[in-house]
Amino acid sequence: MAFVRSFGAAEVVTGSCHMLRLKSGIRILVDCGMFQGREEEWNAGPFGFDPKKVDLLLITHAHLDHVGRIPKLVKEGFEGMIVATKPTFELAQVVLMDSAKLMEEEFRTRYRKAQRRGEEKQVPPPLYTVEDVENLFLLPHTYARYDKPLKVAKGVRVLFRNAGHILGSATVEIDYKEEGVGKTVVFSGDLGTPHDIVTPYVADVPKADALFIESTYGDRNHKSLKKSVREFKEAVRKTLLNRGNVIIPSFAIERTQEVLCLLKQMYRNRELPHCKIFLDSPMAIRATHLFSKYHNELGPECRRFYREDGDVFGFPWLRFTSDVEDSKRINEIERGAVIIAGSGMCTGGRILHHFKNRLWNERNCVIFVGYQAEGTLGRHIVEGAQWVRIYNEDIRIRAKIYTINGFSAHADQRGLIEWMRRFEKLGKIALIHGEKEKQLLFKKAIRKQLGKRAHIVRYKEKIFL
Ligand code: ZN
Repeated sequence: MAFVRSFGAAEVVTGSCHMLRLKSGIRILVDCGMFQGREEEWNAGPFGFDPKKVDLLLITHAHLDHVGRIPKLVKEGFEGMIVATKPTFELAQVVLMDSAKLMEEEFRTRYRKAQRRGEEKQVPPPLYTVEDVENLFLLPHTYARYDKPLKVAKGVRVLFRNAGHILGSATVEIDYKEEGVGKTVVFSGDLGTPHDIVTPYVADVPKADALFIESTYGDRNHKSLKKSVREFKEAVRKTLLNRGNVIIPSFAIERTQEVLCLLKQMYRNRELPHCKIFLDSPMAIRATHLFSKYHNELGPECRRFYREDGDVFGFPWLRFTSDVEDSKRINEIERGAVIIAGSGMCTGGRILHHFKNRLWNERNCVIFVGYQAEGTLGRHIVEGAQWVRIYNEDIRIRAKIYTINGFSAHADQRGLIEWMRRFEKLGKIALIHGEKEKQLLFKKAIRKQLGKRAHIVRYKEKIFL
């Protein structure tokens, strides 16, 4: 009998990695993501299965917690076929290159320090290198197109549908036959929301004998996006009119493009005081180019911008500063700059330089538009810190801090339940990709609103289909 085992994102949010094992022996892996935050140290550990025996890898989307361990999988012998949408492949390349470079850099720094103590042999090597990432993209792969079934093995068919989470994201449906009976197992991937500005299309799925659904926000409903957009625009306007500068820490994929869209809306509607906008993140710049390349897949407003200006995100006041020297020159600007930089939770990257240069000045502001995990510098500031230590210097926080919570690339409880309600046939429900306490609340909500039982998947537990 076929079964699914989760080797990541079971009772936690990160490290998505689920294996479908068919009775015929075929092994299909859905995602192979990085563990992040508290679970980070698990990345170096064994997968819990033999990568050499995996026949097929399906990728739902290019976020690091869904693709981050693929180079390790390849390094450890995976030679099967990879299937993903074309934008997912291209975004994954950007994401994995960035991740490999960071890991190599971190390794070099640690190694140098350990060398001075004579302990360099104890420094663990990076999980993978840039070369490993390059090798991964030499493997055979197939591009999936939304709503077009693909035959991947005898009697096995996969179908990718738009998940509306980030560019290229998909819900994956796997159809197979066992003892003459056809079955369908569905992995939701991360599900988006139809209110999204950049990727609003969330496709329905007609049937599943078993559904593995994400539950990141299964415990709550989001604030209204409209209200958040208003708050965002007001904060930008107020700061610029007060002759200050706006700093926006932002995730490179999706959130940055949303912010660019909002700023462009303001510019076109003459709501934006005169300013210079800098996208100061090489990774976000590369991602933004990919979003523009696939403008046909974006929401109606993005497509309109493209039709009318020949460019989705660009407008005269926006500059991309890939180059370090260009980035440094931003510091010379006294007022009227809007700076978008990473990392999104302020744990590294160029945002730290901008904080160091601008946090002490009460005319400036920081607008947080994304989730700040516990233990990060971003969370510390959001929670009202008066001082921060950046590059061995104590910085007084006098800039105004705005936290805007309504932007989310994930569906909330209502969104997830309504999406499930639209299935014509829905069998087993298995909850993955969520924290245990939130999953318990989600499970209750499913019971109450859909009258169905859901199961919270445990690490490596066999779920028979
Ligand atoms: Zn995601």
